[in-house]
Amino acid sequence: MQVRINDVVISVNTGDITAWAGDFIVNASNSGLYGGGGVDGAIHRAGGPQISAECAVIRQKQGGVMPGQAALTTAGRLPNLGIIHTVGPIWKGGGAGEAATLAKCYISSLELACARGARSIAYPNISTGVYGFPRRLACETALAAVVDYVQSTDPGKLPLNLIAFVCFEQDNTQLYEEMLRTYVTV
Ligand code: ADP
Repeated sequence: MQVRINDVVISVNTGDITAWAGDFIVNASNSGLYGGGGVDGAIHRAGGPQISAECAVIRQKQGGVMPGQAALTTAGRLPNLGIIHTVGPIWKGGGAGEAATLAKCYISSLELACARGARSIAYPNISTGVYGFPRRLACETALAAVVDYVQSTDPGKLPLNLIAFVCFEQDNTQLYEEMLRTYVTV
């Protein structure tokens, strides 16, 4: 399913994000940028050791990445222009600013991609795996953040024409489809 907002298509589909062939893939990483499990492990495996090598350089330079922030590496063997590693919040019950941090992940990744002239970017469902963020709230937060970014950015300064949400599980796809319908203007 997809909707168009200010000439940017926002799409939702189910699958493995490492099979997505657009410009930039976002990775749900950790503060140390050490490849882990879940989508992080899948991206590091598919892209190969060059990604970890660049993560190590970032670690050395800046000591890692804070939750809500993002850093760029090569995509290694993957056909994309690069991987944007963002660090989602660990869910602690909702009173620790988790939703605001999650929104920042989506925005800082978009900013990084746009600064590189990205025409397309794909997101996994950041923080909804081992970091335990409730899926419905994560979906609402993600969509609200990207739609707000698209609507509030001067179209002349927005190289993007596609923002893809690649869900690994069908229940997340359904949530995104349901929520995205609320953005369709009749
Ligand atoms: P986090 O630590 O941010 O919670 P996880 O990798 O554990 O990150 O989970 C984030 C989301 O990524 C989950 O919804 C999980 O199902 C999904 N996921 C896992 N593997 C893949 C993949 N290959 N492609 C896309 N999404 C994936």
